[in-house]
Amino acid sequence: MSPSAQAQPNSDASKLTPTDLPHLRRCIELAEAALAAGDEPFGSVLVDAREKVRFEDHNHVASGDATRHPEFEIARWAAAHLSPAERAAATVYTSGEHCPMCAAAHGWVGLGRIVYVASAAQLAAWMTEWGAIPAPVAALPIQAVAPEVPVAGPVHELTAEIRALHARHRGITI
Ligand SMILES: [Zn+2]
Repeated sequence: MSPSAQAQPNSDASKLTPTDLPHLRRCIELAEAALAAGDEPFGSVLVDAREKVRFEDHNHVASGDATRHPEFEIARWAAAHLSPAERAAATVYTSGEHCPMCAAAHGWVGLGRIVYVASAAQLAAWMTEWGAIPAPVAALPIQAVAPEVPVAGPVHELTAEIRALHARHRGITI
């Protein structure tokens, strides 16, 4: 896919491209690393229009700061290091759909397409199924918060892997 095609928010944004999957697999690796470090299994990657990974991170909420989501770190990194045009042409890959806080940060800094493995609705359903305490923030879809952001997901071929990581984090056998 050409950089110019990726930069255009259009109806194809919701379709996966062959280059999307490796980035999503990296998000799952990062989520696994978070879990190994005693944190919640979420991982995200920022990729520029030339398919270069510019920044990646995983959750750091075990520190006690529940705002330390990788998508929020990506928005701040992008604001500090990328021009507005570079941000608009960049793609954020993530293991779980942005929460409203991160979707808002993504929208405010003008980042481009988002591709996620599991939707917020799926994550919320898994947590309910496993008897987790309800999250203090609503599980809104990204476009309910940032309507102009092109979004793709959930990616069904990878959701079982990320569900298994969340189950492990909760001590659930699935
Ligand atoms: Zn978030």
